[in-house]
Amino acid sequence: MTPISVEELCRLLACDDVAGASNAVVTGVTVDHREVQYQDAFVAFVGQRVNGHQFVEDAFSRGASVAIVTEDVKGTGGSVLRVRDALSAVQTMAEHERKQFSGPVVGITGSNGKTTTKEMVAAVLGAMGDCLFTPANRNNELGLPLTILQRQARHRSIVLEMGMRGFGQIMRLCEIAKPNIGVITNIGYSHIELLGSQEGIARAKGELLEALPVHGTGILNRDDPWLRRIASKSPAPITWYGFADDADVRADDVRWSQDGMHFRVHWRNEEQSFHIPTFGVHNVANALAAIAVGLTVGLKLDDMVAPLACVEASTGRLRILKGPRLTVIDDCYNASPSSMRASLEVLHHVAPPGQRIAVLGDMYELGDHAASGHKEVGEVAGKFGVDRLLAVGQMANWIADAATSAGVPHVLHIPTVEGALNALASWLPEAGTVLVKASRGMQLERIVAALTQET
Ligand code: ATP
Ligand code: MG
Repeated sequence: MTPISVEELCRLLACDDVAGASNAVVTGVTVDHREVQYQDAFVAFVGQRVNGHQFVEDAFSRGASVAIVTEDVKGTGGSVLRVRDALSAVQTMAEHERKQFSGPVVGITGSNGKTTTKEMVAAVLGAMGDCLFTPANRNNELGLPLTILQRQARHRSIVLEMGMRGFGQIMRLCEIAKPNIGVITNIGYSHIELLGSQEGIARAKGELLEALPVHGTGILNRDDPWLRRIASKSPAPITWYGFADDADVRADDVRWSQDGMHFRVHWRNEEQSFHIPTFGVHNVANALAAIAVGLTVGLKLDDMVAPLACVEASTGRLRILKGPRLTVIDDCYNASPSSMRASLEVLHHVAPPGQRIAVLGDMYELGDHAASGHKEVGEVAGKFGVDRLLAVGQMANWIADAATSAGVPHVLHIPTVEGALNALASWLPEAGTVLVKASRGMQLERIVAALTQET
């Protein structure tokens, strides 16, 4: 972050209660005392299990120049700033830091594919210099400001994943980040319990469009009917991407191969071939979003070929693990009906008939759509020619029943992961490709671990 004196910081946070020396300088912010570096501000949060205030001394011994606290702390080695709310303090610092940056700031939201698209956008923008981007999945009201606070003078662009669980949250993230480019990947069903309907989800994601400046750019998936409906909320012009004939950045000639996806991209009068080392038509769509961002900041199509060819799938997201017996598609990071469909399509393409195995678990947060969402997955399994399906979890019986009706030959339902782990060895065939996918809370990585040890 831009260096700031403790005195200035104090003014910024409107804090009138400062203890200790105030002539020090702050060059970073951290909320984890173990990660404190020289001249950091250590922000003490009161967590459910740990109270950060007990680590203030330790933070000072690691070089922190200031501690930002909400409770009394005893014995100190630096300045202590007392504020009313730790999270607001971090957000205020991030808002201030954002104002120091004049390059492109990309906000990315959507029901599925935010992290993947973020990685791809960051890779593409890397072509114009260092890019600061959300680490891992830190897309919430704390992760986003902490990311912005990591900014260094060398950064030429900022890419921020924006997650949400309810109305007003994206708006708040946008107040802090002030994105000038906003990407929405799609409108699915995640968090429908809190937002009531898909229309509610579209409205909540649409907050990103509303927050864009007139001279910014909205980047939307042309193949998503909900996004077509909410596009008019954007004061900024829209660049559409997708497979539809009327998309501005359009892909065709999509081919599956052992090394990932190959496709052709059309933009105005230009066209260019691309390869990505990940699978699925949905990942081609994510790449198109990244290409649209690159074009917005003035990159050429061929500047983006090499960066996109290097973006690997991260753990739990459609990662293909090869063993001597079975191939495992580890996609256990999360699941929704739309992402289940996308992954079943991948299984269909990478494994031949007779070798398609799926271990699919419960999908949470579907609200009233729980039954229909799970049934839809069972039907899709039939459509994509799954040969063996193990449905794991309390709600997965809906998947199993629908899969049986849809003609999947071998279907088994087991309500617990422990039960599934016990049944796995005798249930699995000698060869094939196993897709493993469920909601995060199901922790199906336990099955991936068993399968990769087994194979
Ligand atoms: P989270 O809400 O957990 O942060 P996310 O939106 O960041 O999720 P990713 O982590 O990129 O999404 O991808 C999660 C899963 O969603 C992937 O493993 C894949 O199955 C699926 N997915 C990714 N991109 C898309 C897409 N464009 N459309 C549908 N499904 C997708
Ligand atoms: Mg994510």
